[in-house]
Amino acid sequence: MPEAPEVEVVRLGLASGLTGRRFAEVAVGRDRVVRRTSRTALIAGLTGARVDEVDRHGKYLIIGLDTGRSAMIHLRMSGQVLLVDGDAGAPAHTHVDARLDDGRRMLFVDPRTFGEVVVFDPMRVADEVPELARLGPDPLRDGLDLAALRAGLRSRRRALKPLLLDQSFIAGIGNIYADEICHRARLRPTRRSDGLGLAAERRLASAIVDVLREAVAAGGSTLSDAQYVGVDGRPGEFQREHRVHARPGARCSTCGRGRIRRSTVAQRGTYHCPVCQR
Ligand SMILES: [Zn+2]
Repeated sequence: MPEAPEVEVVRLGLASGLTGRRFAEVAVGRDRVVRRTSRTALIAGLTGARVDEVDRHGKYLIIGLDTGRSAMIHLRMSGQVLLVDGDAGAPAHTHVDARLDDGRRMLFVDPRTFGEVVVFDPMRVADEVPELARLGPDPLRDGLDLAALRAGLRSRRRALKPLLLDQSFIAGIGNIYADEICHRARLRPTRRSDGLGLAAERRLASAIVDVLREAVAAGGSTLSDAQYVGVDGRPGEFQREHRVHARPGARCSTCGRGRIRRSTVAQRGTYHCPVCQR
């Protein structure tokens, strides 16, 4: 599932390809992609609207339109947003095909159909897309305030991994980056958040920002399911730099001694080095 770095790479591609363009003609092939509104509402909300900006909060893309409304895109498990030439064929499972006023097209492709595209009123976000209103800070977009992070870690009193996955705590971290962040911070995913101490809290804050930024710079992570790609259809490269995630039995590249161990934490496959993560 794409996490903040992958969605950020998509955002960068959309920002350069969509900003200032208008949606000239919009086709929606499947109701499921607009499950909380309707095909008619999505087509009406996009058609004729000019893109003023492309923002992101956590795993949500938010396209600001000159109509005062915004389009939210969530990729979920397998969604892709592609920018293609006007005469390009649409891949299987294309659910939204939006032609721009420069002749190019934005496609929303989603084989597993958990993803979503919806046009909403940002003034009524808490009613129309309530999960957006509940998101915590986004470390890539907003930076990470150490004092706020420390207060949050101390008050939540949870194991680190499920806390990092909690989108109301920090927006955008999923299963891959939670593992990589815990490893970078040399903390076990099961460590309790309220007993870390200042040095570990600082390591965690740096690890969150560093891992997410490095992942964006490498174009995000494309796992063996190959479902995440950028708007140009290219996969990411950061999976080659994963130090623990999905590498059971491999020798830890940080300490050179531990073997990466797989366990289940918060019902998710979790990877850590038993030597350098305490
Ligand atoms: Zn290690």
